[in-house]
Formats: sequence, C-alpha cells, structure tokens
Amino acid sequence: MIPFNKPPYTGNEDQYVLQAMHSDKISGDGVFSKRCQSWFETELKCEKALLTPSCTHALEMAALLIDIQPGDEVIMPSYTFVSTANAFVLRGAKIVFVDIRPDTLNIDEKLIESAITPKTKAIVPVHYAGVACEMDVIMTIAEKYQLFVIEDAAQGMMSTYKGKPLGTIGHLGAFSFHETKNYSSGGEGGLLIINDPQFSARAEIIREKGTNRSQFFRGMVDKYSWVDLGSSYLPCDLQAAYLWGQLERVTEINDFRLDIWSRYHESFKDLEKKGYVERPTVPQNLTHNAHMYYLKTKDLEQRTRLIEHLKNDDILAVFHYVPLHSATAGSSFGRFNGVDQYTTSLSSGLVRLPIWYGLEKGDVEKISDSVRLFYLNE
Ligand SMILES: *Cc1c(COP(=O)(O)O)cnc(C)c1O
Repeated sequence: MIPFNKPPYTGNEDQYVLQAMHSDKISGDGVFSKRCQSWFETELKCEKALLTPSCTHALEMAALLIDIQPGDEVIMPSYTFVSTANAFVLRGAKIVFVDIRPDTLNIDEKLIESAITPKTKAIVPVHYAGVACEMDVIMTIAEKYQLFVIEDAAQGMMSTYKGKPLGTIGHLGAFSFHETKNYSSGGEGGLLIINDPQFSARAEIIREKGTNRSQFFRGMVDKYSWVDLGSSYLPCDLQAAYLWGQLERVTEINDFRLDIWSRYHESFKDLEKKGYVERPTVPQNLTHNAHMYYLKTKDLEQRTRLIEHLKNDDILAVFHYVPLHSATAGSSFGRFNGVDQYTTSLSSGLVRLPIWYGLEKGDVEKISDSVRLFYLNE
C-alpha cells in the first residue's frame, strides 16, 4: 500500500532527540527550542518566533493576544480545519464564514468587506495547500476597518507572497508541525509568529502560564509571578530537537516535494485539457511549498469512485474538509455570510494524492498512471 502520508524524517532527528534527552533542560525553551526559534526569526525575518505544542495552540494564543471578547466577530473561510475557528470560539467569538475562490480555494478577498460589521475584530486568512491568499487586498481592508489579521499558515512554511514568507504579513501568524505537514516536530507541534511588536512581551507571558518567567530568566525582573491570563503553550525540547533535524535540510525537503508536485502536475495536464479534472492553480507573484497535490473531480460521486479505484491499486488517497458552516458546531458558533457558491461544491469533489518526503518517483508514476486509467473509462 502506498500510504497517503509519512511523517518527514531526515535521519538526523535521532541524534538530536538523544542529545536533548540527556541535556539538563528537557522542558520548554531548552537549547533546541532556542535554536529553532532563532532560525525562524532569521529566515522569516519576523519580530519573534515562539514554538507551541501545535498550530491549534498558536491560534489560541493569537485569540488571547488580540483580546477577543464574547460577541466579537471573526471572518474566515468555511473550507478549513476546525482549529482555525475553535481558537476564537473558545474566547466567545462568533465566526463569520465567507466563500472561497474557485481557483486557489482560499478565502475570496472580494467577499470580505461585505461581511464586516461593527463587531468584527479580525480576519483569519488560511493559506490553503501552502498557496498564499491575496494578502495585499486583505491587509488594506484590515487597515481601513482597524482589524487584526491572523494568518493561518499551518500549511505554509517556506511559501511566499510577493517575496514575503507566509505568516509574516499579518499581525500574527500560526504554523503547524503536525506529522502531516511539510516539517514536523515529532508528530505534534506549532509556531506562533509575531510581526507586530506590541504583542511580543505579552505573548511570552501568555505562553508561560500568565507569568513573567521569560523576563526573569533574562534577568529583567528579580522574581517572577502571575501577571496576566495564560496557559502552558510550550513544547518540550525533544520536540524542537526533532524539528531541528529537518530545519537543517529545509531546502532539500522543499525541493523534493516540489519535484513530486511538478510530476503530478505535468502528468494530469491532458486530463485537465479534456475537461475531466482541474489541477491546482498557483497565481503569479508567489512561490508555494508543494504542501498538497489535489485534483478537483466532477463531484462527490466521481471522487468516491476514484478513491476506491486507487485503493484497489494499493494507493491511499483522501479528502477533506467538511465545510465548517455545515458541521454541527459550525452552524451554532458561526454563520455563513453571502452565498455558498464554491465552498460546498468544490470541497465535495476534491481528492488529495500522496505527497511526502521520501515518496519514490516510481510510486508517483504509479499513482499518476492509476488516476489516468480511471479517467480513460469515464
Ligand atoms: C493542520 C492545520 C491546523 C492545525 O494544526 P495542529 O498543529 O494539528 O494544531 C490548523 N489549520 C490548518 C489550515 C491546518 O492545515
């Protein structure tokens, strides 16, 4: 069976995890955590980078930092993972979903302004498949209405928009190092990027259980105590050690994935020309990280048969997401603004093909052949 995903692994993780295990500090912000954080601060040129136990936690921190209050509204696409919404719902926000663009499946920036009310506090663009949202337009709207922009860049490490790394354009950005993402910190992990310096000091406090312990460690205060809201948003240093094994090879992993992506893309050109499927669109002015390779099939029925066909060829293909506004929780915690022209229809026809670091070229060919064979009989 060709699995849909294998966690990224370079072989260097072993020694770093052992090193972390035998160090004096295996809790949060140890040697490897600091190494990873300063790597991100340099590479992404951001104000501050803080590792978190997951992207979910990074988004929760963002909701705390922008001081979401019950009744505040947060605008986001419905075509996303539950955590994008949950992080804000936990603070009492009402979610306002807007439709996606049919090309990138990202939030349609042209529909955002009409979803704004006096209660709107933030916009949360999700960079689907590591392909950037139209950030210039989104930032202009945010400025006009004095809104915060939190980038859900869970899938976007190493992607850029007009030369800027994703996650560094809004006020705050959140990344995931879950095992299904391009880089992992041993299964679970995340990162909060702070671009607006007004959040830096408070982010450290919220992450350290509401205490000023980080300042204490830097010798800025002579004792630490409870000063604000907070929780435990630090991963242990073993997770950072695992991640470091991949950050050292970040370009190699990215190139490997891009190569698979291009092979798929080339091999499905004809199917698209003949109108059987649509391939992913990558707009100009941005680079992507080959987080995902997906096809837009005709509808749910065809997708179900394609997945079954692939399974018979020992290939695991998957789909996602159930649009949040149509889920039980989504309909009670949020509302869809405007018309659902693309969210439901495109999500029900979307299929994702295996793409991971280490997937062999022969397997990529086998998968492509199997998909093409399926459409030969359509
Ligand atoms: C994976 C993902 C998350 C959640 O990441 P975790 O690290 O598992 O919490 C959030 N948003 C999007 C868009 C994702 O793809």
